[in-house]
Amino acid sequence: MVTVEERYEHLEKTIRGYNISADFEQIRSAYAYAREHHGAQLRRDGTPYITHPLQVAQIVAEMRLDSESIIAALLHDCIEDTDSTYEDIAKRFGVTVADVVDGVTKLTRVKYSTMEEEQMENLRKMLFAMSRDIRVILIKIADRLHNMRTMEYQTPAKQKKKAFETMEIYAPIAHRLGMQKMKWELEDLSLKYLDPVAYEDINRKLEEESARHDQFMSAVQAQINTRLTELGIRNATVYGRVKHPYSIYRKMYAQEKTMEEVYDLFAFRVLVDTVQDCYNVLGVAHDLYKPILGRFKDYIATPKPNMYQSLHTTVIGDDGIPFEIQIRTYDMHAIAEYGVAAHWKYKQGIKRQGGEGTYEWIRRLLENQEDADAEEFIHSLKIDMFSDEVFVFTPRGDVINLPAGATPIDFAYSIHSAIGNTMVGAKVNGRMVGFDYQLHNGDIVEINTSKAAHGPSRDWMKTAKSSEARSKIRQWFKRERREENIAQGRASFESELRHAGLTLSQVTPPDVLPSILKRVGFQSLDEMYAAIGYGGCTALKVVNRIRDELLQLSRAAAVEKAAQEAAAAKEVQEGRPPAPQKSKSEKGLIVEGLSNCLVKFSKCCTPVPGDAIVGFITRGYGVSVHRKDCPNADPERRTPADQGRWIRVTWSDDVYESYTTSLEVVCKDRDGLLVDISTALSASKVSVTSLNSHTTTDGFAIFHLTISVTDAKQLDHVMRKLHQISGVMKVSRPAG
Ligand code: MN
Repeated sequence: MVTVEERYEHLEKTIRGYNISADFEQIRSAYAYAREHHGAQLRRDGTPYITHPLQVAQIVAEMRLDSESIIAALLHDCIEDTDSTYEDIAKRFGVTVADVVDGVTKLTRVKYSTMEEEQMENLRKMLFAMSRDIRVILIKIADRLHNMRTMEYQTPAKQKKKAFETMEIYAPIAHRLGMQKMKWELEDLSLKYLDPVAYEDINRKLEEESARHDQFMSAVQAQINTRLTELGIRNATVYGRVKHPYSIYRKMYAQEKTMEEVYDLFAFRVLVDTVQDCYNVLGVAHDLYKPILGRFKDYIATPKPNMYQSLHTTVIGDDGIPFEIQIRTYDMHAIAEYGVAAHWKYKQGIKRQGGEGTYEWIRRLLENQEDADAEEFIHSLKIDMFSDEVFVFTPRGDVINLPAGATPIDFAYSIHSAIGNTMVGAKVNGRMVGFDYQLHNGDIVEINTSKAAHGPSRDWMKTAKSSEARSKIRQWFKRERREENIAQGRASFESELRHAGLTLSQVTPPDVLPSILKRVGFQSLDEMYAAIGYGGCTALKVVNRIRDELLQLSRAAAVEKAAQEAAAAKEVQEGRPPAPQKSKSEKGLIVEGLSNCLVKFSKCCTPVPGDAIVGFITRGYGVSVHRKDCPNADPERRTPADQGRWIRVTWSDDVYESYTTSLEVVCKDRDGLLVDISTALSASKVSVTSLNSHTTTDGFAIFHLTISVTDAKQLDHVMRKLHQISGVMKVSRPAG
């Protein structure tokens, strides 16, 4: 029987073994404090309660954590189970220790009631989110490990429940933190209660065979050792082990095999000083034994996300027994066993490449910690990866994941929009709260609903933090208030329509409505009214679009009609001279066969009266007029489909308007050139709309002019004047 005092001495000795400068005074003081506060409390096995915190501190010390972690481990049950308070602990041991103890207490209070697979990842995340300091999680894992070790005194129901939680939540967390040793022990202890028969069976068989196993393992160990010595690889440690029961169990279960059939029961480790030695040892292993193809894995070049590094290979020994060999450096081994907890001590030997994993944050922190000592390193290792999320429970125990700052409104809508829409009240941890209450990790949230509820209020849109809730509220307003929205929208639409001098009867004819709806982007008029009523768009904007569309439709209809008539006339009069059916059009043009049609001058060649011209009936924009010498009007380039659209256009005689056209002037650049060009233009009485120039690298200046002239004669005159200017080499009308 070990006394409590002896356990404490053992703890101090363990700490001294890795951290000679630990704060032993405070550690002893924490021990005395915990012992005093737990007083006469007993554990179920009849031992004084203080043995539990002492053993948890022992596990934490075996993880080689800092003084504050040891102190917090000793105190970890004080707030929960004694009359001690956060304030008291903060006063005596500092705020950091008090925060860690408080964090562990909160994790302890979380009640898991779900057994659903998909909830487990959320639960794991929640534990991380709740542990702002990674030491909280490490101590909680140590606490769980000791509880699992002493689980035999609990009721069978509690054993199963705790074992399930451990298997599903704590072992995976230990794995992600790279704490392999913890993970194995947690898994084996869980299996013991989850499947006692299988667990006993595996252990019994392992025991029965242990002599044979030992013999086999020593033989392999000796073979490898001999070869390493021959090759001069120094300071290598070789040992074999039988895989842990849960790992065997999983293989049996997954492959439906008996234990005898489980493929690789044995694992050997070779620990060496350097990475280069690792690869040398791998060569030795493959030389000594027959490697199994496809079973080699290089986690040194590509570490696992939890920082694990090692070479793995599976080989077959002389007697046909397959076994795995793991080869790594001592530093890598420490990390494999203790994970993040080992890191401050074994910083070297970590390669930073590869493995963008969930625990990238740890790696990032580690990079900044090259020279920090134990105390400092663990201090800065705060968990921040889930700080933008909050995890809460439903009354059933499901975990709901919401954005940080979320309120009961977000919670209700994340369950179902019907819950949100009929919500009349909310309870958090059994107490009524306001709808703007900010949810905290681990809160149990309950929503009261009523069929008589009025539905969401518009304020909720501001209170809700999640876009999911906001869009569901918006949807409700769209749907529930539809009738109201339609009536209101229709009223303001019709009033806006009158303003624009239009009537509803212009909009609704079946040959007009589809293109109008397409233009405004709605499936139906009701939908458009509803959107106006709800405020999704304004009546003014919609009416403006409709007016544009109506205008275009009427013009297009007129031109299309005329074009059809012209084409028909052409067919009839095939071979005969053009009809004398001329009528005056706008802009001083006569368009053959058409009267009062929309005409525009093409921008490519800007024709002026006197130019030979031709017209093209566009689709919806009237007749576009080109110069006959414009490349765009070249008969060679006309497509057969458009042949009928080219029509004769002539200038009428009584034209006094001015026409806009473009000129390009190429000159040898010199001083005063621009002044001379401007002078020539004003002397010719033409107005200039724009004048751009640029110079080329080889000393030329090119001017682009837009001018207004009455006809081709005046234009000709201007061009000749420009040509006379000294240095001007070419004056032309651009086209095409
Ligand atoms: Mn505890």
